[in-house]
Amino acid sequence: MAAEIIDGKAFAAGLRSRVAAGVAALKEAHGLVPGLAVVLVGEDPASQVYVRNKGRQTLECGMQSFEHRLPADAAETEILDIVARLNADPQVHGILVQLPLPAHVDAGKVINAIDPAKDVDGFHISNAGLLATGQKAMVPCTPLGCLMMLRDRLGSLSGKHAVVIGRSNIVGKPMAALLLRESCTVTIVHSRTVGIEALCRQADILVAAVGRPEMVTADWVKPGATVIDVGINRIDAGEGRTRLVGDVAFASVSAVAGALSPVPGGVGPMTIACLLANTLTACARVHGLPEPE
Ligand code: NDP
Repeated sequence: MAAEIIDGKAFAAGLRSRVAAGVAALKEAHGLVPGLAVVLVGEDPASQVYVRNKGRQTLECGMQSFEHRLPADAAETEILDIVARLNADPQVHGILVQLPLPAHVDAGKVINAIDPAKDVDGFHISNAGLLATGQKAMVPCTPLGCLMMLRDRLGSLSGKHAVVIGRSNIVGKPMAALLLRESCTVTIVHSRTVGIEALCRQADILVAAVGRPEMVTADWVKPGATVIDVGINRIDAGEGRTRLVGDVAFASVSAVAGALSPVPGGVGPMTIACLLANTLTACARVHGLPEPE
């Protein structure tokens, strides 16, 4: 039987409307408007598209959107000054510095200069540490979106064997920490893992965050497993065109898996929706108000 396709686009639309309702309620009851500030350094075309989409969706949710654009040769101190100003600005509840930063800038230094309470990307070392130790943290948006989709499909994840392919700080590691928090048995595999296919075949939940086009094929997947494809890879589609594919070979895996998130239209749309949800959460937390579900 063909896998159920997990519709990230529809799920993200639902999350955005819940966030918009939460924003409206904050305004009504407390006169508060959550604000998200995005800092973009340089002209990277993909980053420009992301930042534009973030700004539009922030406004559509009823939040304030602030954008700070700097040239590619901006000094690190200039970026740190902007972060310091945003940290001090009470209208700003979330700060996102769009990655990648130009090579002359120490990205870790910039990210760790953000007030952890405003770190809606969840990349600050304090938030990474809080998540790793099972405490209340700002959770990175992409793994948070994956977790929401998994919970929606499977309900309790307790006792399930989850295999995460990839160990990056922005996807693989926080994904594994979240699954552990849900009482999954978690295996992380990476480029040095021996016998990766056999390990993946044991998974009830398989999350692929690798960046290798269609690496995961049907023989890596246990029949009925839930497969979340985080990968975004642009490949040659012939005649000078390109197309987006994930880390999972969609056609073959959809014949084996119980459910599968597609690329595009799976995890991608959830990432910005979770950023908005994190901004609403940050606003509620800083004002000591109950956090939205
Ligand atoms: P990184 O390049 O930082 O990490 C990739 C990971 O995959 C590493 O841990 C690496 O292992 C592992 N890996 C690489 N090759 C293999 C292999 N042949 N077998 C097993 N493991 C391998 O990538 P990210 O985590 O940042 O992103 C992963 C993918 O997710 C990318 O396609 C990216 O575009 C996408 N992405 C999508 C987002 C979304 O919104 N949907 C957001 C963020 C990322 P090792 O550590 O040993 O090198």
